[in-house]
Amino acid sequence: MNTRHEDTIAQLVDQSGKAALVGDAARAEQTLNQARGLDPVTLELELARRAWANAAGTPTEVMARRQRVSARLGAVAVAAPERGDVWVQLSDYLRALGNLEGALKATASGLKRDPVNIELWLRRTRAQVDLRQLDSAARSLRHCVKLAPTHDGVEAMVRQHAVCTKCHALFAAPGAEVCSHCGADGPARGAPVGSVRFSRQSKFDIYFPRVREVVARALDMPERIKVQLTLDTLLKRHLKRSNQQCARVLRAMSEEFGVAFDAPLFNSAVIGFLDILIADLIRAIDPVTDKSIDTNIRRRVLSNA
Ligand SMILES: [Zn+2]
Repeated sequence: MNTRHEDTIAQLVDQSGKAALVGDAARAEQTLNQARGLDPVTLELELARRAWANAAGTPTEVMARRQRVSARLGAVAVAAPERGDVWVQLSDYLRALGNLEGALKATASGLKRDPVNIELWLRRTRAQVDLRQLDSAARSLRHCVKLAPTHDGVEAMVRQHAVCTKCHALFAAPGAEVCSHCGADGPARGAPVGSVRFSRQSKFDIYFPRVREVVARALDMPERIKVQLTLDTLLKRHLKRSNQQCARVLRAMSEEFGVAFDAPLFNSAVIGFLDILIADLIRAIDPVTDKSIDTNIRRRVLSNA
């Protein structure tokens, strides 16, 4: 559900613009205030988008307008740091203006409040690639893969950025002569290239997002609690879950993974009043019998196990 009123606010801004066109300044102002009352930050985002897209004037005037838009949005972001959508848009604008350091900083500020925001992680990775901070970029890209392995933007970035098969560093460009990290031959010299996805993925990387889904669903977790689940989370200690609730998670895991999930192993843990560790849930999945994942991924999991 849209709780930020994007559509309503866009309509109100339209109405305000029409009122201004016919000279009804009072109505234009009143409609904008109505939008501000719904969500002032979303209103700022909408106004920024429109001002950014406004191509009226000379190139210099357009550029100056866009500088003002990004400066104002920067202030909005600082005043509402929990809004990942503002940091995302700000980062895009700064990048378009050629301010790559600024774009990178915007992602860092956003991720401080919203550490699992994949849109921010993707922009962070791109800024690091642009700034030639390739080691950081490689780490960020691996993090993207971990966080959202099936996200379209992650897929695209993984395809776009080849890694050295010797040291797993990112190549500086698709046609690099050598790996800038270890000096091995690059794609321009005919060397085979690897992929972040396949060079580092472990069973935990592949299963964690799905197991997190299952646990969150079984326990009716709100999104903000769900994102706090990590491999190290203990259901009883950290989430204060009862034995019954732990048993519910185990049932949900059995349903999700079928015969690939070794439930008896965990039933004994529940009876013994032991904690359930998310990492243990994943350990009990047998990728060989799990028919729900892609054959290539399964082969990779087995070779990394
Ligand atoms: Zn290398």
